[in-house]
Formats: sequence, structure tokens, C-alpha cells
Amino acid sequence: MYKRVFAALLALMLCVSLTGCAKKETKSVSFFAMDTYITISVTCEDAQAALDWAQALVEANEKKWSTTLSDSLVSRLNAGEKEALDADTARLLRRAEEMRAYTDGAFEPGIYPLVKAWGFTTGEYRVPLDGETAELLRQVVPDNVRTENGETFLSGGMIDLGGIAKGMTGDMLTEGLKQRGVDSALINLGGNVQALGAKPDGSAWRIGIQSPYDDSVMCVVSVKNKCVITSGAYERYFVGEDGQVYGHIISPFTGRPVSNGVASVSVIAEEGAMADALSTALFVMGEQAALDFWRAHEGFDLVLLTDGGTLYVTEGIWNDLTKRSNGAVKQVCEIKR
Ligand code: AMP
Ligand code: MG
Repeated sequence: MYKRVFAALLALMLCVSLTGCAKKETKSVSFFAMDTYITISVTCEDAQAALDWAQALVEANEKKWSTTLSDSLVSRLNAGEKEALDADTARLLRRAEEMRAYTDGAFEPGIYPLVKAWGFTTGEYRVPLDGETAELLRQVVPDNVRTENGETFLSGGMIDLGGIAKGMTGDMLTEGLKQRGVDSALINLGGNVQALGAKPDGSAWRIGIQSPYDDSVMCVVSVKNKCVITSGAYERYFVGEDGQVYGHIISPFTGRPVSNGVASVSVIAEEGAMADALSTALFVMGEQAALDFWRAHEGFDLVLLTDGGTLYVTEGIWNDLTKRSNGAVKQVCEIKR
């Protein structure tokens, strides 16, 4: 009798100890979505379940927010339809409009007519005539999202959320993974890297910033619980018959692809949506205006490379940055407030 009770107790203890210290594992997944190569890596108890959830979320967001998919929610809004929005899309549209106001229109969700005219939505690239660009600029309607009786529509123009959707997706991934008990994850959505917590060994994540000229890394920043989001013409561009390089970020002020001496700009911040929209906007603003904008606003750091090879690094990230020997960078300057 005692033997049986003892055996049962032993079995129970074994069971408790097994579930009590279920092993954490590190797993990652890579796939193509949102026009880019994506890698997500997590450390937690059921890593595969967390990764399956994460991949499904990215694919669902792409289906809603893409402008290249003709039946996405955004494409339907652009076609003049009225839609009942889910909470995530409502949040994305609100954040996009807030970032337009915050950057004085350099980040412009209404830029779609120009992105389309230059061929960036289809890959059929072309250089519009100046008259056409002027007419297309009139089709850029800022702050054009309206909601009436629970239905959302555009008051005019069209929208393109390509400059913020990946950052918002990164925020949703880190929030959802945290809720699923993940305390260490690295999310790489093309040039958008978002770190949840620290590496499994407790040290900071080391995130490489790519040279705009090749696949090499020009510097490495160490972060915990932050994102490093980079914009540059090199991500998508075409060379015109005139030999000029035309990149995919378009100035809402000129209607032309930005070409202002900035080669790439990375924003380091806690919120992905903000950092994503800001990296696009600061690229539009140009070297001096971007550095002035940083001096006038709190809550983010910058790593900005000029065409001439100067790497500007703001003071908040200066001690966490390591330069790699790289031909893209001729000199490194710390920027202070
Ligand atoms: P990113 O790689 O985050 O800088 O975003 C670039 C993408 O944002 C482009 O491919 C366009 O879809 C879109 N875009 C281009 N110019 C602008 C702009 N001035 N404001 C907002 N989005 C833009
Ligand atoms: Mg962006």
C-alpha cells in the first residue's frame, strides 16, 4: 500500500518538475512576403506555434495593406469602395496620418498616384513629363481618410502605406509574441529589424546596417527592445534612359524620386510604425533638415549616410555603434543636440 502511494507521489513529482521547467527552444522561419525576404526568430517554450502565428499575421497584413494586390483592403479603398475597417487597419491609417502631420508632409500616405506613375507598383518604370508630374501632385490628397456610419472611404486621391506597414507589422509581432510568453525575438522584415528583449543569453542584439552600394555591413548597432529601420533609394530603383538613378521614395513636394545627397537613413526607436514612417520622411527631407528634425524632436536616434560617405550618428546611439571597415563610409561624425 505504502509502496503504491510512494510510486504515485513520485510520478506526480516527476510530472510537476517536467511541466515546471519545460525547455525553451530557439527557432526561426524565413519566407517571402510584403515584397521582401522575412526572417523571424524566437526563443520560447513552443517556438513553432509562435512562428506559425507570426507568419500568418504577416501574410494577413500583406493581404490587407498591399497596393500590388488588386483585391487588398487598401486597393479597394483606392478603387473608391467603402469598407468596414478592422481595428489594426484603423490603427495603421491613424498612425500614418499622425506621422504625415509630425513630419510636415514629408511622409505622405497620399503619395500613391506618383508611386504608380513612376512605375513602382508594377515594375514598368518610366519617367513622367514635368507637366504630368505637376498634375499628379494635384492628385495627392493629404488626410483623405473618412469614416461615416462605421464605413471608411477616401475623400479623394489614393493611399500607399508601403512606408509604414512593415513597421506597424513589426509592432504587432512584438506585442503578440510578448503575449504568447516570448521574451526574446528578432524580426527582420527586409530593411526593418525589430528586436524583442535581448538575445537569449541576455546580451544586446547586434544589428548590421547594410551599405547602400552592396550587401556588406557598414556598421553594427547594439539594441534591446528597439527597432532599426532603414530607408534608401537602393532598396528599389531603376535607371532611366537618361542614365539617372530613380529610387522608390518620392518627394511629395516635387513629385520626383528623392535625390538629395542622402544615401540611407536608419531610425532607431521603440515603436516600429514611427521609425518606419520617420526613416522614409527623413530620407525625403535631406541631410540638414533631417539632422535639424532630430534636434527638434525626442524619442529616436539616427544613423545617416551621405552620398559623400559621411556617416552621421546621433548621440543616443553613438556608444552602441561599431563601424565596420567599409568603402561606403569615409568619416563618422557624432551629432549632439
Ligand atoms: P520605406 O522603404 O519604408 O522608406 O518606404 C518606401 C515606400 O513608401 C515606397 O516604396 C512607397 O511605397 C512609399 N513611399 C514613397 N514615397 C513616400 C513618401 N514620401 N511618403 C510616404 N510613403 C512613401
Ligand atoms: Mg519607412
